[in-house]
Amino acid sequence: MYKVLVVDRVSQKFLSSLDSNRFEVCYRPGIPLEELLNVVQDYHVLVFRGRLKIGKEVIDRGANLKVLARYGIGLDNVDVEYAVKKGIAVVNAPKASAISVAELTLALMLIVFRRLYSFICEVKGGGWPKGKYLGRELYGKSLGIIGFGKIGSRVAHYASALGMRVLVYDIRDVSQEVAKLGGKQVEFEKLLNEADAISLHVPLTPLTWHMINDRTLSLIRDGGVLVNTSRGEVVDTHALLKHIDRLGGVALDVLEQEPPRDEHLWKLIMHPKVIVTPHIGAETEEALDRIAEELARNIMEAVNWV
Ligand code: NAD
Repeated sequence: MYKVLVVDRVSQKFLSSLDSNRFEVCYRPGIPLEELLNVVQDYHVLVFRGRLKIGKEVIDRGANLKVLARYGIGLDNVDVEYAVKKGIAVVNAPKASAISVAELTLALMLIVFRRLYSFICEVKGGGWPKGKYLGRELYGKSLGIIGFGKIGSRVAHYASALGMRVLVYDIRDVSQEVAKLGGKQVEFEKLLNEADAISLHVPLTPLTWHMINDRTLSLIRDGGVLVNTSRGEVVDTHALLKHIDRLGGVALDVLEQEPPRDEHLWKLIMHPKVIVTPHIGAETEEALDRIAEELARNIMEAVNWV
């Protein structure tokens, strides 16, 4: 019998999809790190989201760990190399939330271009601001997609269906796939220079950390829109604050610090050109169900080969 410790909120479907003849599940969403360190040695499988850092300390204390399972995609809070060195399998659900994140990206872009946030807030406040703001269409604009993986490629499909011109920057050669959408794979700086809107879909790596910084922000054209539904650390938010007045709008689903505490983040959040959602890219019924299925399947496979 494998003992499973789940340390964050997951769906009931996930809990019931682990075969009860082989897995005994302990559900402790929100357990503090100190407590986790005291109990982790009793478990074979650890299931978590992005809240806790699953680094050397947790791995060393987990003498019986066989599988680390990220309930979602990003593995940037896990020391994968160290886990693998110790013979622990690391699994996630990489495909499950692509549709939800891509749809949120499109929604954020529409909200910014049509100034929907201001209109909706003012009407709810008793106003009727018709004529106060003028929106812009997505049709005919160029969208620069940075990272053409599962989410970025889907955003590209949606955007091209809306009549946007797609530009892509990726370290892989994806030019043929992009060409099928009538788009073009280009160099990073060319994308920043030419795009009316820029959407980030890269994983967090040493290469992508602060890839949007003071220098690269200065290459974005005046009135350009920036959307980040990838990882907060891809954008240097101090630099973003410096450039914000020149940009057309910014939408962020992810921040360098979540929940935000630093003063500069609150300045950014409260800025009229910025909208922020609390890391809800995968927070749909459908994505959570898909994560549950994909992750349970990956855990059951992983315990067979470690
Ligand atoms: P993916 O691995 O399918 O695609 C990532 C793409 O980025 C790949 O094409 C890769 O070649 C490219 N890439 C990697 N390093 C690069 C670099 N230095 N420069 C340019 N391109 C680079 O990933 P995905 O599933 O599409 O996820 C994309 C991002 O979305 C990740 O950061 C993930 O953590 C994030 N995400 C966010 C949420 C949310 O709730 N907002 C949910 C799921 C995923």
